[in-house]
Amino acid sequence: MTEPLLRTVGLTRHFRVGKLLSRQSLHAVDDVDLTIGKGEIVALVGESGSGKSTIARLLARVYKPTKGEIYFEGRPLSRLRSRKRRLAYSSDVPMVFQDPYSSINPAYRVVHGIARALRLHRGGLGRKGRRGEVERVLDAVGLVPAAAAARKFPYELSGGQRQRVGFAQALAFRPKLIIADEPVSMLDVSIRIGILNLMSELREREGVSFLYITHDVASARYIADRVLVMYAGHLVEEGPTEDVLQRPKHPYTQLLLSAVPDPRAELGVSDKTDVGEAPKVVDPKEGCRFQPRCPYAIARCETETPVLRELGTRRLVACHVAEADPQDLLDGNDAGNEQSVAGRVGRR
Ligand code: SF4
Repeated sequence: MTEPLLRTVGLTRHFRVGKLLSRQSLHAVDDVDLTIGKGEIVALVGESGSGKSTIARLLARVYKPTKGEIYFEGRPLSRLRSRKRRLAYSSDVPMVFQDPYSSINPAYRVVHGIARALRLHRGGLGRKGRRGEVERVLDAVGLVPAAAAARKFPYELSGGQRQRVGFAQALAFRPKLIIADEPVSMLDVSIRIGILNLMSELREREGVSFLYITHDVASARYIADRVLVMYAGHLVEEGPTEDVLQRPKHPYTQLLLSAVPDPRAELGVSDKTDVGEAPKVVDPKEGCRFQPRCPYAIARCETETPVLRELGTRRLVACHVAEADPQDLLDGNDAGNEQSVAGRVGRR
């Protein structure tokens, strides 16, 4: 990893749910430590409801953390008191949204959104400077000729072109880190690769880092230097992308990968297709949140929450049995480990 650009320590966000007399606490994100280096593309993967988008909103300062701190270039965000400094952070860390059909105002030409961002965040640019900058960012995202693209209305653009406008708006801020929250999930498969390539090019040309949030493991592999795997509000595994995806150590990462259909595999239905969903974590008890779905769970998993710990170079895994051979666990052959619950009941 390169020099850290953004870092979170114990980042936590809980939401109150239920009626006044039966209030409960939904733990969307719990105790997350993550780091994004300069010029790095980091993928945050997990199922819907795992807390990925809550992390995006925390980093974008849409939500305040319940606990924990976010450091950007070494400075804590909780100390950003003045409007000027908060605006400067928003310029440094803009967000690109999932839905290109609702993230751009349909009533205005493309130029409007970009010029508005420039007026707000880069007030020093004059009218001519703004026009030049609008064309620069449209050119950078491949909307050419830029002058013609700037005059278009959103209805004249395809989904992929609209998402490029979203990236152009983000680039207008001269960002250091772009939070891209599922930016390709609503696009046709044939268009996705163009947007992923665009992110990669922007990293090369503009030196921008990315937090790429996705549930699509294949696209994470295509673009990311490192991957972070999230389950039910916790980070459960992280490391270099190829290493994590080739040799997943956490049972949830293994399950996630086994659920990806291989278009070149033999025809037939896999017996591993039913992976369920991440649970809603309301007033959770101690213990591993993956335990109800985990074939390797041991008694300790019910009472002790696993924490991320190093397992090899730059690999972190939160699992009590990550070092053990899964088959030994299921068979109860490893003298150093308890037999898994699945092994004891003959499951799997
Ligand atoms: Fe969680 Fe235990 Fe399964 Fe590891 S073995 S993922 S700690 S339930």
